[in-house]
Amino acid sequence: MKKFDLIISGGGMVGSISAVAACQSGLSVLLIESNKSPFLTENSDMDLRVSAVSWQNIEYLKKLGIFQNLYSNRIAPYSHMQVWDTRSQAHINFDADFSSQSCLGYLLENNNLVQAAWKSLDSYPTCEIITGHSIDSLENTGSQVRVQLTDGHEFKSRALISAEGRKSKVREFVNIKTTENDYHQFGLVAYLSIKDAPEFTAFQAFNEGGPIGVLPMGDNLFSIVWSLPKDKVDYWLSCDEQTFEQGIVNALSNHEIAPKVTLKSARVAFPLTQLYAERYFNNRVVLCGDSAHGVHPLAGQGVNLGIGDVQLLFELLDSSVLKDDLLLHKNLRKYQRRRISQVKETSEMMSFLHHMFKDDNHIKKPLRSLGMNLINQSPLKKWFMAQAGS
Ligand SMILES: Cc1cc2nc3c(=O)[nH]c(=O)nc-3n(C[C@H](O)[C@H](O)[C@H](O)COP(=O)(O)OP(=O)(O)OC[C@H]3O[C@@H](n4cnc5c(N)ncnc54)[C@H](O)[C@@H]3O)c2cc1C
Repeated sequence: MKKFDLIISGGGMVGSISAVAACQSGLSVLLIESNKSPFLTENSDMDLRVSAVSWQNIEYLKKLGIFQNLYSNRIAPYSHMQVWDTRSQAHINFDADFSSQSCLGYLLENNNLVQAAWKSLDSYPTCEIITGHSIDSLENTGSQVRVQLTDGHEFKSRALISAEGRKSKVREFVNIKTTENDYHQFGLVAYLSIKDAPEFTAFQAFNEGGPIGVLPMGDNLFSIVWSLPKDKVDYWLSCDEQTFEQGIVNALSNHEIAPKVTLKSARVAFPLTQLYAERYFNNRVVLCGDSAHGVHPLAGQGVNLGIGDVQLLFELLDSSVLKDDLLLHKNLRKYQRRRISQVKETSEMMSFLHHMFKDDNHIKKPLRSLGMNLINQSPLKKWFMAQAGS
């Protein structure tokens, strides 16, 4: 039976970044991805799933050599963010601190990041990749993990990372329970072109029903994430293009951009829920990314939290730690404690904002106006900026 230091199940953004971090720490890695070929190539159609990756996490991706493998004509920096409430004068503006950073972050298609990480893995002979199969059973006792794949092959390792996303099978195998809260919303994603919008600027408008995020991908192209109540999403997915474009203009009202909008892609929607795993490890199996936590996408924090998990995990894991039961468990407890607290802080703030802005309750309305304008002028703004980097 072939043995690795680490098996990683799930080769999406978080799993493939973990694999590169592990290889860079000198570990041998088996990466298992259940899809056959999840990637984008240089000329393929735009991936509808886009992420805003914070400046701090971009720096980490540079250190891992992943950023350099992104198709550079398909990524876009953003330096400003304008946030407003369409039902009042309340607004907040965020700008990059150009003394220490060149932008707030980059917008990139999820599959561009995945292909870049997989390209980095090509240069590590210590990494093997299996696609089109998944773990069928696992044993997680003593000082190693044994897995059997759906094709019957068996492997063992000193530890196993689940980066399988929200519906992780490995998480079930090791009996880690989750709590899931339904936001009763879907996130509708699509591309638009918007004429004469300010450059390098992302927008977020809070509406009754949910916020809309508008992310600049360069050349007047924008990716949107429109959070809609469940009973409205089918209408906005299937209405004709003109009606949809007018819906976007209305959802961005009360702001100087007064956009001229053209729909440029298909429309797809994802259910929005908050998810917490009750623990982040069991013996030698560790959860990372959406396997461990799911947050509302209103501030684009999901993959940023996942990259934060990877960064801390590989500060705490190396080959000597993996060989030492006591030290490994001590370090995994530290990982769990720190990440649960960070994730909770971010996720609860997203939930608070979701509840504050989603309806026109007469108590919430004046409170959110006051709150947004106060934040815009106070040190709390720094807290929001710091969250974007976690
Ligand atoms: C509408 C929307 C907009 C968002 N916008 C942003 C944003 O702007 N910024 C941001 O930071 N986050 C954003 N997110 C969140 C972000 O997409 C997720 O946090 C991120 O995709 C999590 O990455 P992951 O690698 O942990 O999981 P996933 O992306 O779910 O990847 C899991 C991988 O594991 C594979 N897999 C699944 N099961 C198995 C198995 N049993 N065996 C082997 N492989 C398996 C899958 O095929 C996949 O490749 C958004 C989410 C939504 C819904």
